[in-house]
Amino acid sequence: MQINISYGAAVQTGREAPEAGALAGIAKVASTCTLCRLAGGRKNVVFGMGNPAADLMFVGEGPGEQEDLQGLPFVGRSGQLLDRLVLEEMGLTRQDFYIANTVKCRPPGNRDPLPDEIEACWPYLEKQLELINPRVVVTLGNFATKSLLATAEGISRLRGRVYPYRGAQLVPTFHPSAALRGGGQVVAQIRADLVRAKEALGAAQPGGAQQS
Ligand code: SF4
Repeated sequence: MQINISYGAAVQTGREAPEAGALAGIAKVASTCTLCRLAGGRKNVVFGMGNPAADLMFVGEGPGEQEDLQGLPFVGRSGQLLDRLVLEEMGLTRQDFYIANTVKCRPPGNRDPLPDEIEACWPYLEKQLELINPRVVVTLGNFATKSLLATAEGISRLRGRVYPYRGAQLVPTFHPSAALRGGGQVVAQIRADLVRAKEALGAAQPGGAQQS
Protein backbone atom coordinates (compact mmCIF):
# COMPACT_ATOMS: atom_id res chain seq x y z
CA MET A 1 0.00 0.00 0.00
CA GLN A 2 1.16 3.53 -0.65
CA ILE A 3 0.21 6.94 0.58
CA ASN A 4 -0.43 9.39 -2.17
CA ILE A 5 -0.64 13.01 -1.26
CA SER A 6 0.86 15.74 -3.36
CA TYR A 7 1.13 19.43 -2.79
CA GLY A 8 1.16 22.08 -5.44
CA ALA A 9 2.59 25.53 -5.02
CA ALA A 10 0.32 27.99 -3.25
CA VAL A 11 -0.21 29.84 -6.49
CA GLN A 12 -3.74 30.97 -5.79
CA THR A 13 -3.36 32.47 -2.37
CA GLY A 14 0.34 32.93 -1.89
CA ARG A 15 -0.08 31.46 1.56
CA GLU A 16 2.52 29.12 2.97
CA ALA A 17 1.27 25.63 3.64
CA PRO A 18 1.83 24.69 7.28
CA GLU A 19 -1.19 22.45 6.73
CA ALA A 20 0.92 20.14 4.56
CA GLY A 21 2.66 18.45 7.46
CA ALA A 22 -0.58 17.93 9.33
CA LEU A 23 -2.27 16.58 6.21
CA ALA A 24 0.59 14.17 5.62
CA GLY A 25 0.16 12.91 9.17
CA ILE A 26 -3.54 12.26 8.63
CA ALA A 27 -2.78 10.60 5.28
CA LYS A 28 -0.34 8.29 7.04
CA VAL A 29 -2.99 7.27 9.55
CA ALA A 30 -5.53 6.72 6.74
CA SER A 31 -3.06 4.57 4.79
CA THR A 32 -3.50 1.71 7.23
CA CYS A 33 -7.12 2.40 8.17
CA THR A 34 -9.44 -0.54 8.67
CA LEU A 35 -12.38 1.34 10.16
CA CYS A 36 -14.81 0.06 7.53
CA ARG A 37 -15.23 -2.91 5.19
CA LEU A 38 -13.84 -0.98 2.22
CA ALA A 39 -10.36 -1.62 3.57
CA GLY A 40 -10.71 -5.24 2.46
CA GLY A 41 -10.83 -4.60 -1.28
CA ARG A 42 -8.64 -1.60 -1.82
CA LYS A 43 -5.27 -1.46 -3.50
CA ASN A 44 -4.53 2.06 -2.27
CA VAL A 45 -6.06 4.53 0.13
CA VAL A 46 -6.86 7.58 -1.98
CA PHE A 47 -6.45 10.38 0.52
CA GLY A 48 -6.43 13.50 -1.65
CA MET A 49 -4.19 15.73 -3.71
CA GLY A 50 -3.58 19.30 -4.62
CA ASN A 51 -2.71 22.58 -2.97
CA PRO A 52 -3.17 22.37 0.81
CA ALA A 53 -3.32 26.17 1.02
CA ALA A 54 -5.95 26.55 -1.68
CA ASP A 55 -9.09 28.59 -1.31
CA LEU A 56 -10.99 26.01 -3.37
CA MET A 57 -11.63 22.38 -2.49
CA PHE A 58 -13.57 19.74 -4.42
CA VAL A 59 -15.17 16.82 -2.60
CA GLY A 60 -16.24 13.78 -4.62
CA GLU A 61 -17.71 10.40 -3.79
CA GLY A 62 -15.11 7.65 -3.70
CA PRO A 63 -12.23 6.20 -5.70
CA GLY A 64 -12.94 4.29 -8.89
CA GLU A 65 -10.78 1.63 -10.50
CA GLN A 66 -8.08 3.96 -11.83
CA GLU A 67 -8.00 5.97 -8.62
CA ASP A 68 -7.61 2.78 -6.58
CA LEU A 69 -4.79 1.59 -8.84
CA GLN A 70 -2.91 4.89 -8.84
CA GLY A 71 -3.78 6.05 -5.33
CA LEU A 72 -4.82 9.46 -6.64
CA PRO A 73 -8.28 11.05 -6.83
CA PHE A 74 -10.08 11.77 -10.09
CA VAL A 75 -7.50 10.39 -12.50
CA GLY A 76 -9.92 8.42 -14.71
CA ARG A 77 -12.32 9.71 -17.37
CA SER A 78 -14.44 11.57 -14.84
CA GLY A 79 -11.43 13.34 -13.44
CA GLN A 80 -10.15 14.26 -16.87
CA LEU A 81 -13.52 15.80 -17.69
CA LEU A 82 -13.56 17.67 -14.39
CA ASP A 83 -10.05 19.00 -14.98
CA ARG A 84 -11.09 20.27 -18.42
CA LEU A 85 -14.26 21.95 -17.17
CA VAL A 86 -12.48 23.57 -14.20
CA LEU A 87 -9.76 24.89 -16.49
CA GLU A 88 -12.25 26.21 -19.04
CA GLU A 89 -14.68 27.79 -16.56
CA MET A 90 -12.39 28.80 -13.70
CA GLY A 91 -8.95 28.95 -15.28
CA LEU A 92 -7.57 26.68 -12.55
CA THR A 93 -5.50 23.50 -12.49
CA ARG A 94 -4.75 21.00 -9.76
CA GLN A 95 -1.95 23.21 -8.55
CA ASP A 96 -4.65 25.71 -7.57
CA PHE A 97 -7.13 23.55 -5.63
CA TYR A 98 -7.36 20.51 -3.40
CA ILE A 99 -9.48 17.48 -4.22
CA ALA A 100 -10.57 14.54 -2.08
CA ASN A 101 -13.40 12.08 -1.72
CA THR A 102 -16.06 11.28 0.85
CA VAL A 103 -14.69 7.76 1.27
CA LYS A 104 -11.00 7.12 0.76
CA CYS A 105 -11.20 3.47 -0.36
CA ARG A 106 -12.86 2.09 -3.48
CA PRO A 107 -16.30 0.54 -3.02
CA PRO A 108 -16.27 -2.85 -4.77
CA GLY A 109 -17.53 -2.73 -8.34
CA ASN A 110 -17.94 1.04 -8.03
CA ARG A 111 -21.10 0.60 -5.98
CA ASP A 112 -22.38 3.51 -3.94
CA PRO A 113 -20.70 3.96 -0.55
CA LEU A 114 -22.93 2.81 2.30
CA PRO A 115 -24.00 5.11 5.14
CA ASP A 116 -21.81 3.39 7.73
CA GLU A 117 -18.79 3.61 5.40
CA ILE A 118 -19.35 7.33 4.88
CA GLU A 119 -19.73 7.80 8.62
CA ALA A 120 -16.57 5.81 9.36
CA CYS A 121 -14.53 7.84 6.87
CA TRP A 122 -16.00 11.24 7.77
CA PRO A 123 -13.27 12.21 10.32
CA TYR A 124 -10.63 12.16 7.56
CA LEU A 125 -12.64 14.47 5.34
CA GLU A 126 -13.56 16.68 8.25
CA LYS A 127 -9.88 17.05 9.15
CA GLN A 128 -9.00 17.85 5.54
CA LEU A 129 -11.66 20.56 5.47
CA GLU A 130 -10.44 21.92 8.79
CA LEU A 131 -6.76 22.04 7.79
CA ILE A 132 -7.21 23.31 4.24
CA ASN A 133 -9.91 25.75 5.39
CA PRO A 134 -11.11 26.57 1.87
CA ARG A 135 -13.24 29.62 1.15
CA VAL A 136 -15.26 27.66 -1.39
CA VAL A 137 -16.14 23.96 -1.37
CA VAL A 138 -17.58 22.33 -4.50
CA THR A 139 -19.32 19.05 -3.77
CA LEU A 140 -19.51 16.60 -6.66
CA GLY A 141 -22.65 14.49 -6.64
CA ASN A 142 -25.15 13.22 -4.13
CA PHE A 143 -22.95 11.65 -1.50
CA ALA A 144 -20.57 14.54 -0.91
CA THR A 145 -23.37 17.10 -1.03
CA LYS A 146 -25.63 15.20 1.35
CA SER A 147 -22.77 14.51 3.75
CA LEU A 148 -21.58 18.09 3.99
CA LEU A 149 -24.98 19.75 4.02
CA ALA A 150 -26.47 17.04 6.28
CA THR A 151 -29.55 16.80 4.12
CA ALA A 152 -31.57 14.06 2.45
CA GLU A 153 -32.27 16.22 -0.62
CA GLY A 154 -30.83 15.03 -3.91
CA ILE A 155 -28.26 16.88 -5.98
CA SER A 156 -30.79 17.79 -8.70
CA ARG A 157 -32.73 19.88 -6.18
CA LEU A 158 -29.71 21.22 -4.32
CA ARG A 159 -27.56 22.44 -7.20
CA GLY A 160 -27.97 25.89 -8.66
CA ARG A 161 -27.47 27.68 -5.33
CA VAL A 162 -24.63 28.61 -3.01
CA TYR A 163 -24.88 27.48 0.62
CA PRO A 164 -23.09 28.76 3.72
CA TYR A 165 -20.80 26.09 5.12
CA ARG A 166 -18.62 26.50 8.22
CA GLY A 167 -17.71 30.05 7.36
CA ALA A 168 -17.12 29.12 3.72
CA GLN A 169 -19.46 28.81 0.75
CA LEU A 170 -20.55 25.48 -0.66
CA VAL A 171 -21.46 25.01 -4.32
CA PRO A 172 -23.07 21.64 -5.10
CA THR A 173 -22.86 20.19 -8.58
CA PHE A 174 -23.20 16.87 -10.35
CA HIS A 175 -20.43 14.30 -10.19
CA PRO A 176 -18.54 14.38 -13.50
CA SER A 177 -19.44 10.72 -14.03
CA ALA A 178 -23.05 11.90 -14.36
CA ALA A 179 -21.90 14.16 -17.18
CA LEU A 180 -20.22 11.21 -18.90
CA ARG A 181 -23.56 9.38 -18.75
CA GLY A 182 -25.90 12.32 -19.20
CA GLY A 183 -24.18 14.31 -21.90
CA GLY A 184 -24.47 17.95 -22.84
CA GLN A 185 -27.18 19.16 -20.48
CA VAL A 186 -25.39 17.86 -17.40
CA VAL A 187 -22.10 19.28 -18.65
CA ALA A 188 -23.77 22.67 -19.09
CA GLN A 189 -25.14 22.53 -15.55
CA ILE A 190 -21.71 21.65 -14.15
CA ARG A 191 -20.21 24.54 -16.11
CA ALA A 192 -22.80 26.90 -14.62
CA ASP A 193 -22.03 25.65 -11.12
CA LEU A 194 -18.30 26.13 -11.67
CA VAL A 195 -19.01 29.71 -12.69
CA ARG A 196 -20.91 30.08 -9.39
CA ALA A 197 -17.87 28.74 -7.58
CA LYS A 198 -15.62 31.18 -9.42
CA GLU A 199 -17.90 34.06 -8.49
CA ALA A 200 -17.89 32.85 -4.91
CA LEU A 201 -14.11 32.99 -4.97
CA GLY A 202 -14.39 36.59 -6.04
CA ALA A 203 -12.60 35.90 -9.29
CA ALA A 204 -15.47 36.00 -11.77
CA GLN A 205 -14.77 37.59 -15.10
CA PRO A 206 -17.96 39.14 -16.55
CA GLY A 207 -19.03 37.52 -19.79
CA GLY A 208 -16.21 35.02 -19.66
CA ALA A 209 -18.09 31.81 -19.00
CA GLN A 210 -21.02 29.81 -20.20
CA GLN A 211 -24.24 29.75 -18.18
CA SER A 212 -27.23 27.41 -18.39
S1 SF4 B 1 -13.03 4.07 3.46
FE1 SF4 B 1 -12.19 5.42 5.04
S2 SF4 B 1 -12.92 4.54 6.99
FE2 SF4 B 1 -13.12 2.94 5.41
S3 SF4 B 1 -11.18 1.79 5.53
FE3 SF4 B 1 -10.93 3.37 3.94
S4 SF4 B 1 -9.97 5.11 5.01
FE4 SF4 B 1 -10.85 3.75 6.60
